[in-house]
Amino acid sequence: MRTTKEILEGDTSRFAFKVSFQRDPDQGAGATEEETLSWGGFEIWVEGQNLCTHREDDTIVEAAHWYLLPMLEWLSTCWDYLLHEERLPLRIGGDDSWHSLQATAMPPPALDEQGEHRWDVEWHRWWQRHSLLACRQGGLFPDVIFRRWRHLVEISWGLRRLAGQPDYFRFLANDGFARLPVAEVAQPLYSVLRQAAAYLAEQASGSARLAILRAGLDSLRTDHSDKRLALLAGLGATLDEQEERWQEVNSRLQTHPEAAAAALSLDHTELFLAGSCQAALMFGSVAPTVDANDVIALASKLIDLYSPDSESPKLLALVRDETIDDSRKRPWARGYVLAQDVLEYLSLPGGADEWIDIRAIYERLGIHESLLPLNDSGIRAVSLAGPEHRPSALLNPKHGTYPGEFGRRFTLAHELCHILFDRGYGARLAIASGPWAPRDIESRANAFAAMLLMPTDLVRRIVDQLTIPTASAAGVREVARRLRTSFKATLEHMKNLDFLSEEEHDRVQLEVGGID
Ligand SMILES: [Zn+2]
Repeated sequence: MRTTKEILEGDTSRFAFKVSFQRDPDQGAGATEEETLSWGGFEIWVEGQNLCTHREDDTIVEAAHWYLLPMLEWLSTCWDYLLHEERLPLRIGGDDSWHSLQATAMPPPALDEQGEHRWDVEWHRWWQRHSLLACRQGGLFPDVIFRRWRHLVEISWGLRRLAGQPDYFRFLANDGFARLPVAEVAQPLYSVLRQAAAYLAEQASGSARLAILRAGLDSLRTDHSDKRLALLAGLGATLDEQEERWQEVNSRLQTHPEAAAAALSLDHTELFLAGSCQAALMFGSVAPTVDANDVIALASKLIDLYSPDSESPKLLALVRDETIDDSRKRPWARGYVLAQDVLEYLSLPGGADEWIDIRAIYERLGIHESLLPLNDSGIRAVSLAGPEHRPSALLNPKHGTYPGEFGRRFTLAHELCHILFDRGYGARLAIASGPWAPRDIESRANAFAAMLLMPTDLVRRIVDQLTIPTASAAGVREVARRLRTSFKATLEHMKNLDFLSEEEHDRVQLEVGGID
């Protein structure tokens, strides 16, 4: 097939986008003039892998071929969502957007007909804004999702059979995801869109449709900061609601201009907002239905804790960026390793220690602990840290784990993981631990907390001293009592470290009536 124009932008080892225009094999049958002109192939490269590579019988084909104009229009129309909207529809059902959408595609059986309908509508609307398949119009496209992920752009993909996909046709990339700086994705994407639209417009100079596409692309360069910030914060189900509620946050913050400047600091470019903004990070991890009181309480913390350069050298020596950007690294195992690193740095546990004093660790590192009463009982705690904020873990007394000291200790250890390893661009952090925080980050922080409070050596020391069987409720209870951790967390951790086999774990659980 003769290629009339080829445009490739970006770095294929990071992110690159390529389109090539060719003669329409159907010579315009069933397509408009502009669509016919736009026939061609495209390739999406992520970390060295071309997501469009597929097999057609015995032939490997690099590009996906179809009328490209609807895809160019979709990328232009959905631009702000693709690069700024993080929050998944309905609930977080997986580590990345592709897996989460798969997990939430079917409404739960408990919903009634109306509830099912609402579920489907919400899921579908999000899918239309983020899934490349939304613009395929009958073409065979790879199943790729673009969304914001905190300070980065997440691209995730997987294999799903498309309607109309023949048996001889199969994409080669298995499921995966990558998280890249916004500029690395936005710039090549935009550059290809501009060049492609200009090329098509040259071929069909009177086309109103192409004029609209070009005007749309131009308009992305005008100031969209308010809309983009509202999308980053995601306070609400619709863009109107998000913009309105964002204004409430903004007015609360503006009562303290210096704190507001710090909490809203971001890299503005014409095309996108990059970097981390404390306020958006904070609201991006709470439920979209968070009530007005909680919004004000959270915004107020950004003011109360405004305190430039208040992080201690001891703390900063431990802080490092540990972005989870590869589905092959298991977040849980990583949490264990990070906890061991921290314990080693702090020379813990000491020879005579029977338990880990998390509050003493907070004190040594200069981290502040306080209360943040929120109506949303799903939020366990909120962490805040960065160059302009006093590093803090704020515990929500409404959360089920708060009333017990062991639960609070676990929360403090969990938040420590966020404070040390989940900083975004500019070493900024604001996160609400709960069901709307990224799942892989939460799961790593839980593993970190378990290992920090129950280091293997300490567990072994206590188990060796037991005069009752380890594999019994009384045995586990004694280990938990001495480590000052909850029975449940101790039981799970002892199984994960092989102090208890799967069978012994289940027996102990039965003994305390945990399962039937
Ligand atoms: Zn958390």
